[in-house]
Amino acid sequence: MWHSPSRRRREAGAANMTRAGRTQDQRWVATAEGEHLRGRRKRDTKPEVTLRKAVHRLGLRFRLQRKVAPRCTADFVLPRHRVAVFVDGCFWHGCPDHSPEEFRGPNAALWEEKIETNRERDRRNTTQAAEAGWIVVRIWECEIRRNVEEAAQRVAETTGSNEAPRRRRPAMPK
Ligand SMILES: [Zn+2]
Repeated sequence: MWHSPSRRRREAGAANMTRAGRTQDQRWVATAEGEHLRGRRKRDTKPEVTLRKAVHRLGLRFRLQRKVAPRCTADFVLPRHRVAVFVDGCFWHGCPDHSPEEFRGPNAALWEEKIETNRERDRRNTTQAAEAGWIVVRIWECEIRRNVEEAAQRVAETTGSNEAPRRRRPAMPK
């Protein structure tokens, strides 16, 4: 249920109250509708931060917000291993488990189109990042909520197969 837009809006408000310096969130709230409809990727979302901490605990070091392809910025990258990690919100990126099968209400068609556009962009970004030599790991928000250690492990598993400086072309992820 935490994926519904109304809930997202409430959460964004709460986030502003609980954390200082979350300028991205603040900007998002200020222009909620516009930002929403553009499907702008938010930085430092709670699942993303949680995952980063777990990845860090595994001894892996990363850099935030690295551009890995034209108009495509990974949430964080492990530069040594050429691994690019994207944390995808279930609602906006169309998680198979949590995105509604069918949208209802007057804006149903718009929502549907919006989510599909986001999914297409995700696929395109994955392809382009892979072509640029990155191993792309996309992690659903719900995977992190379910078991963050497992999600971090999934990131860690990719590192062994792509040691810098030897750059091997990774298999194309789906
Ligand atoms: Zn999900």
